Amino acid sequence: MEEKRGTGHGKRTTVLLAEAEGVACDVLASLLGPRFDAVVMAASLAEARKAVAQGAPDMAVVAARLPGGGAALAAALRQACRSMPLFLTGTAEDVLSVLATLSLPGVRAVVRPFDPTALAEALDDAVLEIGSRQSAEDAWELVRHFLDEAPQPAAILHGGRVVSINRAFLRFMGLASVQEFTAKGLSLEHFLADPPPREGLAAWACRLPDDRLDREHRLRLHHPGRPDQPAHVFQVAATRLPGRDRCLLTLADVTDLELERRELLDLANLDPLTRAMNRRKLTEVLGDEAARAARYRSPLSVVLLDIDRFKAINDTHGHAVGDAVLVELAARLRAGLRQVDRLARYGGEEFVVVAPGINGQGAYDLAERLRLAVGDKEFAGVGRVTASFGVAGHVPGQEPEAMLRRADEALYRAKNGGRNKVEREASPQHDAR
Ligand code: GH3
Ligand code: MG
Ligand code: MG
Repeated sequence: MEEKRGTGHGKRTTVLLAEAEGVACDVLASLLGPRFDAVVMAASLAEARKAVAQGAPDMAVVAARLPGGGAALAAALRQACRSMPLFLTGTAEDVLSVLATLSLPGVRAVVRPFDPTALAEALDDAVLEIGSRQSAEDAWELVRHFLDEAPQPAAILHGGRVVSINRAFLRFMGLASVQEFTAKGLSLEHFLADPPPREGLAAWACRLPDDRLDREHRLRLHHPGRPDQPAHVFQVAATRLPGRDRCLLTLADVTDLELERRELLDLANLDPLTRAMNRRKLTEVLGDEAARAARYRSPLSVVLLDIDRFKAINDTHGHAVGDAVLVELAARLRAGLRQVDRLARYGGEEFVVVAPGINGQGAYDLAERLRLAVGDKEFAGVGRVTASFGVAGHVPGQEPEAMLRRADEALYRAKNGGRNKVEREASPQHDAR
C-alpha cells in the first residue's frame, strides 16, 4: 500500500473533487489520492452539496464547468470557510470567466492542460497548510481544555471582546456555554458590581500586562440574577497569549480572604461595642491628620466628650443598658459628623472626634451640634442623657497629644461649669484663624 504524503497530523483529511469530465477527474484523483485519507467525488453541484452536507471537506477542487454550476459551489464553499484551500479547474477561459464575475479570495486556478509537476507542488503546499491549520486548532483546543479544567474563572479576550470563557467562569455567571453569553448579548460589564472602566472591562484587562508597576487589581462581580447575594471579590491576572493579540484573564476568588482581612482590620482598629475607632487607631489617624494639616497649612481640631453622670445610669439600669446607651450615643454622634470627621472611643464613656479643616468657631459649632444630638432626644428606657465637651485646635509643630490634653482641660471646665456644655481650650490659639 502506498504511504500517504498526508498532513503529518493525526486527523483524517478529506478532499472534495467536484469534476464531471472523465479524464480530468482521473488525473486529479490520482494526484489527490496519495495526499488525502479520503477523496469525495461529485459530478454535479447537487452531488457536491450533498457531500458537503455530510461533512465539510478540508480542501476542495472544483471544475468551473461543473454541471449545475462550479462557480456557485466555489462561492458557497468559500463563504462557509475562508481559510480552506480551494482550487478552481478548467480551461483558461472557463476559469477566467468565473473569476471575472465572482470574488473568491485565495482561490487557486488550475488551468488545463494540467502541468502535473506544478499541480503536485500546489497540492503539497495546500496539504502543508491544512496541517499547520490543524496544529493551530489543536493547540487552541488544548488551551481551552486546560482552561475548562482550571478551578478559577478565566476568559480569553481579543480586541476588547470576549472570545472564550471557561467552565468555572460560566458556572459563576449561571450560563451553560459561551454561545449563551453571546446570544444573550452579555458583556463582562453585566457582572460588575462597581462602575466599569471607561474603556470597557475587556479593553482594560488587555492593558493590564503592560502595567509596569505590576499593581494588584481586584474586581467585584455579582450575578445579576442573584441580586440578594453579595458581590464576589476577585483578584485579577492578565497575560498576553503568544502569537495573536489575545489576552488571558484569570480571576482568583478572594471573597473569603477579603472578608477575613476586613474582620482583622476591624478587630485591630475598632472598638467592638460602638464600632468607633479604638485608641490605637485614633493615635494613627491623629498623626496622619496632623501631618496633612502641616503639609496643606489647614486647620485641625479635636472634640473630646464625656457622658455626664454615666455611673448613675449603670447603677440604676444595669451595665447592659449602660452599654446600649454607649452604642446609641455613638450612632447619634456619627449622624452629626461631617464626612471627613472621624469618631473614636477614647475611654469608658469618653469619645473623641477628629475634625480636619476647621478650628475656633467652626470646631465649637460642631461640638455644639453634637451636644444637641446627644442631649435633645431621650434614650429608650433611660431618659435624657447629656455629655460635656472640650474643644482644642492643632498647633503646627506640636504633638497631636498636646491638643488632646488641651481639649481635656476644656472638658474639665465644662464639667465644673455645670455639665452638658461645650468649652474651648483656654489658650489664645483657637483665635489664630
Ligand atoms: P461625670 O459626669 O463626672 O463624667 O460622671 P460619670 O459618672 O460619668 O463619671 P465616672 O468616671 O465616675 O464614671 C464613668 C463610668 O462609666 C464608670 C464605669 O463603670 C462606666 N463605664 C466605663 N466603661 C463602660 C462600659 O463599657 N460599659 C458600661 N456600661 N459602663 C462603662
Ligand atoms: Mg462621665
Ligand atoms: Mg469619664
